[in-house]
Amino acid sequence: MGGMTATSRPSPAATPSGDAARRAGKRVLLAAPRGYCAGVDRAVIAVEKALEQYGAPIYVRHEIVHNKYVVKTLENKGAIFVDRTAEVPEGSIVMFSAHGVAPVVHEEAAERRLATIDATCPLVTKVHKEAVRFASEDYDILLIGHDGHEEVIGTSGEAPDHITLVDGPEDVANVEVRDESKVVWLSQTTLSVDETMETVDALKEKFPQLIAPPSDDICYATQNRQIAVKQMGADADLVIVVGSKNSSNSVRLVEVALGAGASASHLVDAADEIDEAWLDGVSTVGVTSGASVPEVLVEGVLEWLSQRGFEDVEIVKAAEESITFSLPKELRRDLRAEAAALSEK
Ligand code: SF4
Repeated sequence: MGGMTATSRPSPAATPSGDAARRAGKRVLLAAPRGYCAGVDRAVIAVEKALEQYGAPIYVRHEIVHNKYVVKTLENKGAIFVDRTAEVPEGSIVMFSAHGVAPVVHEEAAERRLATIDATCPLVTKVHKEAVRFASEDYDILLIGHDGHEEVIGTSGEAPDHITLVDGPEDVANVEVRDESKVVWLSQTTLSVDETMETVDALKEKFPQLIAPPSDDICYATQNRQIAVKQMGADADLVIVVGSKNSSNSVRLVEVALGAGASASHLVDAADEIDEAWLDGVSTVGVTSGASVPEVLVEGVLEWLSQRGFEDVEIVKAAEESITFSLPKELRRDLRAEAAALSEK
C-alpha cells in the first residue's frame, strides 16, 4: 500500500485559464499501477516478435488483448485477427490470445495443420490446470465469470461436464450440483474482487462444504488496479478509465470507482471520447487504465485534461509490480534456433 505523491506535468503552451484553474484547485489523481499487465505485455510482444521472425501475415485468434488501439496497431504491422480457427488458411501460423482457448481449439488447429503459438497468460493457464485437476477428482466446479467472455469459454472447455458458470450473485439461486460435499469455486481472472466475494458468500450459504481455489484466481494486476481506484475513488469527482468496452477488467474499474465514492466514472478508449460536459463542477479527476491499455493513451488523456486546467497530477500508488512472463515457448524455441544458426555462420 502506498500514499499520494505529487508530480507535475509540463504546463501546456499558454493555456489562458491555466493559473486561474490551478487556483481553483483542479487536480488529477493518477492511479498506479495502471495499464499493461505482464500477460498483456507478453502477448503483444509475442505478436510483434512473430511478425519479425516469420513475416506477415500472422493470424491471431480473437483480439490478442481487448484493446482497439493495440489491435489496430498490430493489424497495421501484418497481424490478421479472426474469430474462428476455420478462417485461418491451412498451413498458416496462428496465435492464441492472452485469454486462453479450450482444448478443442488446439485440436481444430492441428486438423488444419496450423503452426500454433499460444500466448495464453500463464495466470489463465493456472486456472485451466485447476479446472482439469478438480474435474479429474470428479468435483463440480462453479466457475464465477461473465457468460460469453473468451476466458470463460476457454476455461469451461477444459472440463465442460464438470463446470457450471455462475455469472454473479443473482445467478446462485439457479446453481445445482451433483454432490454438495464435492464442490469447488474457481473464477475468471479479471473480475471485481468485491462482487466475486459476494458471489462466493452466496454460494457458501447454499453449499456450506464449498471449497476455494488453492490460490487467488483473480490476478494480481486486476486486484492492484482495483485497489488503486478504491484509494482515489472517494476523493474524485470524476474517474476516467481508459480501456475498451469489451475489456472486462477495465469495465470493472468503472464499477469499483463508483463503489468507492466517485461521483461519476466513464470508460473511454482515448481522449477524443471524453465529453467536455463531464468536467462541469469537477475539481478532482481520477485517471486509470485497464490491463490491456498502452500508456500512450493515458498520456493523451492527461494532455487533454492539462489543456483544461488540470495540470497538477498526484500519483495514487497502491502497489509495486515487477512480474514479467517469458515469451510463448514455441516462439522462444524458434528465436533460440535462429540465434544459434546466426552464431554458427
Ligand atoms: S489481466 Fe491478469 S490474467 Fe489477464 S493477461 Fe493480465 S496478468 Fe494475465
